Amino acid sequence: MKSPIHLSASKIDTFYNCPRLYQYKYVLNLKEPPKKSFLIGNVTHSALEYFHKSYVNKKTSKAVMGSAFKKSMSEYKSKAPGLDKNDIMTIKGMLQDYLYYLSPRSEPKVIGTEKYFKIQLGDGISMGGKIDRIDRYGDKLYIVDYKTSFAVYSRKEMAASTQLVIYAHWAQQEFNVKEIYGVYIFLKHVLNGGVQKMLIDSDPDSLKSKCEAIRDRVESDDFPKNKSFRWCGKKYCSFYDRCVKEK
Ligand code: SF4
Repeated sequence: MKSPIHLSASKIDTFYNCPRLYQYKYVLNLKEPPKKSFLIGNVTHSALEYFHKSYVNKKTSKAVMGSAFKKSMSEYKSKAPGLDKNDIMTIKGMLQDYLYYLSPRSEPKVIGTEKYFKIQLGDGISMGGKIDRIDRYGDKLYIVDYKTSFAVYSRKEMAASTQLVIYAHWAQQEFNVKEIYGVYIFLKHVLNGGVQKMLIDSDPDSLKSKCEAIRDRVESDDFPKNKSFRWCGKKYCSFYDRCVKEK
C-alpha cells in the first residue's frame, strides 16, 4: 500500500525543477534563511489582501491602500527590520502602480482573498494551497495570483503552470461556474502589460499522475540533482554549499 502524501503547487514545481532541492526542503525539512524577496512578497500580498477587503466597503482607494500598507507593515514588524529603504520603496511602488492600473477600470468583483483550500485526489494524495484572490462575474470565475518577482512568465509557461491547474480543480468543485480563468498580476510590470489571463482546464488526471510520480520517487529515495535548473547556483539556492559536498 502506498503511503499518503500531501502536496502543493510549490512542492510539485520544486520536485520537477530539482528533486534534490525537494529532498532538502520537504523530506529533510532543512530550514532556509529568510529571503528578502520572500518578505517583500509577504508584505505586498498582505497589503493587497487588506486593500481588497476594504475596497469593497466603498472607501477611497488611495486612502485604503495607504492604511492597508501600514497594517501589513506592522503585522510584519518583527521581520521588517530586514527591509531597507529601497525595499520599502519597491513595495510602495508596486502598490502605487497597482492603484494606477485599477483607477480607470471598474472595481473587481472580489468574492474572496487569501483563501486556503485542501483537495483529495484519491489513493492517499491530498493537495492544499492558498489563493490570493477570487473574482466572480456571473458564471465566470477568475483566480488571481499576485507576483512580485521581476520575471514575467510567457503564456506557454503560464499554460504549463501546476498552480493554476490545482486552483481550477478546487474551484470546479466549489463553484457552479462555466469557465475558470487564471490571472497572473506581475506587480512590477502591472502598467506595462503585466496582467495575464488564461482559461484553465483543471485536468485532474494529469495532476494525479504527477503526484503519483513524486510519491513513487520519494518512496524510492530518488532525488537527483538538476544543475541545469535556472535557479541552481550559490546566488539562488540556499542549499548550494551542502549540495556541492554531496554525491
Ligand atoms: S544547488 Fe542546484 S542541484 Fe543542488 S539542490 Fe540547489 S538547485 Fe538543486
